[in-house]
Amino acid sequence: MVKLDTIISLAKRRGFVFQSSEIYGGLNGFWDYGPLGVELLNNIKQSWWKEMTYRDNIVGVDASIIMHPKTWVASGHVAQFSDPMIDNKTSKARYRADNLIEEFIQKLKNKNKTELAAEIEEKLEHAQVNEDYYNIILNYGITCPVSGSTDWTEVRNFNLMFKTFVGPVEDESGTVFLRPESAQGIFVNFKNVMDSSRMKPPFGIAQIGKAFRNEINTKNFLFRTREFEQMEMQFFIKPGAEKEWFEYWKEQRWNWYLSMGMKESSLKWKVHEKLAHYANYAVDIEFEFPFGFGEIEGIHSRTDFDLTSHTNHSGKKMEYVDTVNQDRYIPYVVETSGGVSRSFMAFLCNAYDEEKILENGKEDTRVVMRFNPKLAPITLAVFPLVNKDGMPEYAHQIYKDMQKFFRVQYDTSGAIGRRYRRQDEVGTPFCVTVDGQSLEDHTVTIRNRDSMLQDRISVSKIREYIQEKMY
Ligand code: ATP
Repeated sequence: MVKLDTIISLAKRRGFVFQSSEIYGGLNGFWDYGPLGVELLNNIKQSWWKEMTYRDNIVGVDASIIMHPKTWVASGHVAQFSDPMIDNKTSKARYRADNLIEEFIQKLKNKNKTELAAEIEEKLEHAQVNEDYYNIILNYGITCPVSGSTDWTEVRNFNLMFKTFVGPVEDESGTVFLRPESAQGIFVNFKNVMDSSRMKPPFGIAQIGKAFRNEINTKNFLFRTREFEQMEMQFFIKPGAEKEWFEYWKEQRWNWYLSMGMKESSLKWKVHEKLAHYANYAVDIEFEFPFGFGEIEGIHSRTDFDLTSHTNHSGKKMEYVDTVNQDRYIPYVVETSGGVSRSFMAFLCNAYDEEKILENGKEDTRVVMRFNPKLAPITLAVFPLVNKDGMPEYAHQIYKDMQKFFRVQYDTSGAIGRRYRRQDEVGTPFCVTVDGQSLEDHTVTIRNRDSMLQDRISVSKIREYIQEKMY
């Protein structure tokens, strides 16, 4: 399994991800996507968007990040969107109590103390109030990872929403929140979308957008950050049909990750025993990161909680009226809620490979990012074999021509083997090389990243060759 440090260092070296405002020492929990990172990020979002909205019954929206503050009262976030927080008095370090316990369980598992780990896991699964977390921490003597002491404060609630103010006066009347999830932007637009697009249940609304959570601890690179992006779809159905649609979306979402190249052995389901206040079924898709399994997407049956609550708080009826069958109801909702940035990190880890190869009779190791070609930041690289005899001009023309269809890079520096290696490390699936023969018969070699095998094809067939392998 690849180490997290290896991924972080490759991500920085090759321009996938940088620390936010790094020149000022960075800001905890915030990251910037570099030239290759933004391509990968866009490809993930585009693939998701196509998968979810290029079908009969799903349309998209792009709602604003700051919404009317009543939204968050109705959704339950003002009252309930908090995590259990605990401080260590010796180190002054602050932790999310459930995460602290989870890490302790992981340590026990690493030491093969599986029975004790299972016992605590069971208690954690059933923990409901702050006191339950506190008791686990105290009873099992969980120590602070920084100070090693058990000098804990009690467990308190910490609301994760970022507050800010609208307008010039910083008082309660202008207080708004940065949205902690994109879902509510969909719910408040339910009627607008249904009426303007003439949709009727079962139908869905999809959205990709930023969300903000003032997480108590950020860590593990992009896994838990304070600013992140979500790709969410809320599917509106007739009450009673939720189990069937829940199963349908579970399968669809699992298969999407596989179709994007995720290894099935790195994925697993986590069924929620403890359900959120709005849910009647809930599962997560988890990916095996270098630090263990972690959620990348949740599929939840949210009942009519959100639409009913918005009806009550806004006074606007959020119902579907079926004039043909003389039926009216508040739809139930099955949501698929994935993190773009968490998936991004999962796709990086999933793609990373080191392979022993023989080059010029010598053993070497190549680092290769085996991205699905649809996700790869660069689709094609074009090289002249040598920088003379008309090859650079010929190669540059191919580069310009292919730019109309793909993200292409042109590279003339260093030995050809070095150029292949640079592209392998960022996952470019195809490399075209122009050599002496190209100028005579208008053919080039095209090298495949994974097999390293080359085909000789006509220049006029490059686009077709790539498209055939990509779709
Ligand atoms: P967790 O239990 O890890 O805090 P969650 O259950 O609160 O996550 P959801 O509210 O279901 O997460 O959010 C949906 C998706 O948004 C998650 O599956 C994850 O991919 C992403 N996500 C949530 N919180 C973060 C975060 N702090 N950083 C990055 N991605 C996040």
